[in-house]
Amino acid sequence: DGTKQAAHFVFVPLNELGHVIPAVDTALLLATHGAVCTIVGPPSTVARVRHTVDAAAAGNSGLQVRLVEFPLDYAAAGLPVGADEADRIDPAHMMSYYRAVALLRAPIERHLREHAAPYPTCVVSDIFNPWASELAAGLGVPRLSFFSMSAFSVLCQHNLERFGAFAGVEDANAPVVVPGLDRKVVVTRAQAPGFLRGIPIPEWEALADYIERARAEADGVVMNTVLEMEPEYVAAYAAARGMKVWTVGPVSLHHKGAETLASRGNAAADAAECLRWLDGRDPGSVVYVSFGSIAQPSPKQLMELGLGLEASGHPFLWVVRNAGAYDAAVRAFLDGLEGRVAGRGLVVRGWAPQAVVLSHPATGGFVTHCGWNSTLEAVTAGLPVVTWPHFTDQFLNERMAVEVLGIGVSVGVTEPITFRSVEKEVVVGRGVVEQAVRSVMGAGEEAEGRRRRVRELAAKARAAVQEGGSSHANLLELVKRFGTGAAASQG
Ligand code: UDP
Repeated sequence: DGTKQAAHFVFVPLNELGHVIPAVDTALLLATHGAVCTIVGPPSTVARVRHTVDAAAAGNSGLQVRLVEFPLDYAAAGLPVGADEADRIDPAHMMSYYRAVALLRAPIERHLREHAAPYPTCVVSDIFNPWASELAAGLGVPRLSFFSMSAFSVLCQHNLERFGAFAGVEDANAPVVVPGLDRKVVVTRAQAPGFLRGIPIPEWEALADYIERARAEADGVVMNTVLEMEPEYVAAYAAARGMKVWTVGPVSLHHKGAETLASRGNAAADAAECLRWLDGRDPGSVVYVSFGSIAQPSPKQLMELGLGLEASGHPFLWVVRNAGAYDAAVRAFLDGLEGRVAGRGLVVRGWAPQAVVLSHPATGGFVTHCGWNSTLEAVTAGLPVVTWPHFTDQFLNERMAVEVLGIGVSVGVTEPITFRSVEKEVVVGRGVVEQAVRSVMGAGEEAEGRRRRVRELAAKARAAVQEGGSSHANLLELVKRFGTGAAASQG
């Protein structure tokens, strides 16, 4: 009929950095391939991504990425100011978050109906925004779930739930074998999927059911992973859900410079300092240490970690998030540590340009909390990891790194720290940190084996995003599939 319509993806990200960063990167990639993308959310979400989108648009004037923010009337909704900020893994706060953002559905739908040209052809929503299923239905377009998770972890969660693996298991710390996998993987109920179930808030189970329904009824999945890294799990998850899984990762790879990445956290000064410091170190000598954008070690744990890094003897670049929140004793400890190691360690009190730091030739290993973005970024940079999970899918990502991919050494954390006080606790002692860092950064057959395997995976990750690679092909297919007449045929 000759009327060609460009694909127009409406992204509804979760306002949490580990979710919003890969979602925006995916939107930018789809736009690079000719799609129109509109990213919607409360002002706090839009503020977080504006820099990244503006920088991309400045470098490519044809890029069609639109940001539309929808203010929230907190008082009218009976919600606390800031309820739409999702950086705290605290169930009561998360519940307010869900209530707050769900209020945006009607105004978003109205806006898109009245102003979006071309008309949207597909909603791409974070799996923790289940209300986006009503948005897509209201617009009359299909909806894809966006996962910033590994196929391995979502398959484990799916199978644990589907086969009722924890039914009748009283002890939350009792080991259970994940059903239906090609290998034996053992987890506890506390480790997985505790972030969706068993949270002691009356309305929580209903919300978990709502999220599960939205997952089950999606028209497909867009996943920030690499098909060649976990082909069996991508296939098994697609089969279990009966839906197509488009793997598009690693989406971080399209960032070429430190500028864009640094601006994510508005810490350009930190970025320049990190890179200058790394330039002066030997190739592969530095261990990078970061726990992502949420986890916050207790003061004692933080100091224990610092002492372990000091004892390891290896150069380290350590990001201490929210350093200003620690008391004077901790701040003095960090200053003292930097003084004692005299140039061998850099403590970044804030935000590092992580993807760039990881790909710097001086970086040789990564102590990570196993957030999926961090894990994938480590693989992408070809770096072995010390695994130190805190909560959510991080224990499953640890299993994947250590047991499936063979690229990590665990510090042996057994329980998530999310829902209990950690103020006085030291979960991982300095000696364990020292040993794990030495074993990942050191010489010897095991260390070499981990390095060899992760470099092979890095090559696969790079190949996936190049012309002809699986992720590249999936992006093109998405643009094609949800363009030209797709909205009409899907209805
Ligand atoms: N990140 C960063 N600088 C930092 C800390 C984190 O750029 O100092 C980025 C990191 O590269 C990753 C994201 O923030 O893309 C964290 O996501 P992840 O899934 O690893 O963990 P979460 O923050 O969700 O726990």
